[in-house]
Amino acid sequence: MLGLWRRIRRLGRIAEPAPEPPSTDRPDAAEQLGGSVQIRHVDAGSCNGCEIEIGAAFGPVHDGERYGARLVASPRHADALIVTGAVTRNMTEPLRRTYEAVPRPRMVVAVGDCARNCGVFASAYGVTGPVSAVVPVDLEVPGCPPRPEAIVAALRTLTGR
Ligand code: SF4
Repeated sequence: MLGLWRRIRRLGRIAEPAPEPPSTDRPDAAEQLGGSVQIRHVDAGSCNGCEIEIGAAFGPVHDGERYGARLVASPRHADALIVTGAVTRNMTEPLRRTYEAVPRPRMVVAVGDCARNCGVFASAYGVTGPVSAVVPVDLEVPGCPPRPEAIVAALRTLTGR
């Protein structure tokens, strides 16, 4: 136990230095959300690559929570959905219902190329379409998968921090 404390003391904080706040073109969103955004994640048909990067975005190195973004367990506690993957047929209705469960004003962030335009799964038999074919999308994060820095930067445009 003492060894662990010594190691923590020696290493200190490992979070990346905070970059400048983003110049947001969404001051309305930042104002509505009051500087923090509670997010429910929905995997609508992802390969799990985007999930790994979202995990990294909220891990100790990139630490998305220090900018006011926080993952929550229920859409009823959320201000926004973060959706990954091309929307599969089986996830079309659950995504729609999850969106309906988020209190207004609500936002949707499509993370990854699959969520934006179906990516490598375009025209697959089990795919309904991109996220925007099922629920309205407010913000897109391109990449396959997007880097955690890009995910954090996108969420900072919502919190304005
Ligand atoms: S964008 Fe790439 S990493 Fe993300 S779900 Fe699609 S294939 Fe996987």
